[in-house]
Amino acid sequence: MSGPSIESYDAIVLGAGAAGMMCAATAGQRGRRVLLVDHADRPGKKIEISGGGRCNFTNLHTAPDRFLSANPHFAKSALSRYTPADFLDLITRHRIAWHEKTLGQLFCDGSARQIVDMLAEECAAGGVKMVLGAPIGAVDHADGRFRVGFGARSASAPALVIATGGPSIPKLGASGFAYDLARRFGLKVIEPRPALVPLTLGGGEAMFQSLSGVATEVVARAGGASFREAGLLTHRGLSGPAILQISSYWRHGQEIAIDFLPDQPAGWMVVAKRARPGAGFRSLLAPLPARLADALAERLAIAGDLGNLPDRVLSAAESRLADWRFRPTGTEGFAKAEVTVGGIAADGLSSKTMAARKVPGLHAIGEAVDVTGWLGGYNFQWAWASGRAAGEAL
Ligand SMILES: Cc1cc2nc3c(=O)[nH]c(=O)nc-3n(C[C@H](O)[C@H](O)[C@H](O)COP(=O)(O)OP(=O)(O)OC[C@H]3O[C@@H](n4cnc5c(N)ncnc54)[C@H](O)[C@@H]3O)c2cc1C
Repeated sequence: MSGPSIESYDAIVLGAGAAGMMCAATAGQRGRRVLLVDHADRPGKKIEISGGGRCNFTNLHTAPDRFLSANPHFAKSALSRYTPADFLDLITRHRIAWHEKTLGQLFCDGSARQIVDMLAEECAAGGVKMVLGAPIGAVDHADGRFRVGFGARSASAPALVIATGGPSIPKLGASGFAYDLARRFGLKVIEPRPALVPLTLGGGEAMFQSLSGVATEVVARAGGASFREAGLLTHRGLSGPAILQISSYWRHGQEIAIDFLPDQPAGWMVVAKRARPGAGFRSLLAPLPARLADALAERLAIAGDLGNLPDRVLSAAESRLADWRFRPTGTEGFAKAEVTVGGIAADGLSSKTMAARKVPGLHAIGEAVDVTGWLGGYNFQWAWASGRAAGEAL
């Protein structure tokens, strides 16, 4: 008696997320017979919840310096060959309305679901066979073919694409599967860390936790990077776009520095003293939300009229407010992280085709790879560009 038959394809793509669907659609429309497998019951679940349900699908300012990787040159080729304008062409063809929100961030006017539907239609146009709700079982490689068990079935192909993303938000079906598989094929994995994630504060900084919900525009600095955006105090620590951005550069044990009044020029407090000696110190903090201003003034332990405060006290207060140090105890982890820093090492892959240098036919794309974008649509642009690069090479 013969066992269940093995389906034969030109390529098998593991993971029907942003990168996997783009890759499968591209290869399918080039005439390749493609199998796209996912253990989730729907494709693109992260796309659905992205951008607050409106999907921040790209960023007009996409450039390689907005991506973190142990190999900062790796992303250049794919990003230059599939640009935000290319993705805009695609969504325009699908009549999806969009708008720019801020800082070059493009969102759907309607639902993020439109992006998932568009990619599913592109897959269908390429004759891609999409199998959902199928846990991936054994993956073997012999005689130039990859054989993949999924559910009760199995398939083989000369090319295999790892597109199962990173481990952020496990409750959406995210897993470290990509790393396990890559390691089994001898690829290196750069230590994965949660990124674009809130930071937690300990007891010594508890005063700030009592300001939960207070937000203000700050400059946040850590690990050689700096971002000017909103910062938010939470009951666990710090969040808001500036903090999420800086979290990707922050390492355990390091401090982060916050400039609470980034618009003030050097020496502004002494200038204010000369101009308004009768004004109280607290009035200098008036541009900040009142609760935050009160807490900072209390921490600085400075009160009274400016005219009675020595210049050196004001200069020290100014420096402290421009460079307020926090030592986070950690992050809120993969459960809350929008992305993962680290992943399959770029050095083991071709930047043109995303193919593994040492395993012919194996590719890795999207968040599974050690390329992480800033907040603001950059991560999807990497998913589209890397998916496209692999899809064109299959
Ligand atoms: C809350 C949130 C909001 C976000 N908002 C934005 C945004 O607005 N703009 C932006 O650019 N980026 C955003 N991101 C990041 C973005 O979603 C990811 O960078 C992007 O989805 C990565 O694409 P991918 O295809 O590599 O992985 P994914 O889209 O995560 O797809 C991976 C697929 O693989 C499947 N899979 C995983 N493990 C297995 C397994 N073991 N077996 C079978 N299948 C498996 C998953 O079910 C999933 O369908 C957001 C992320 C989150 C969590």
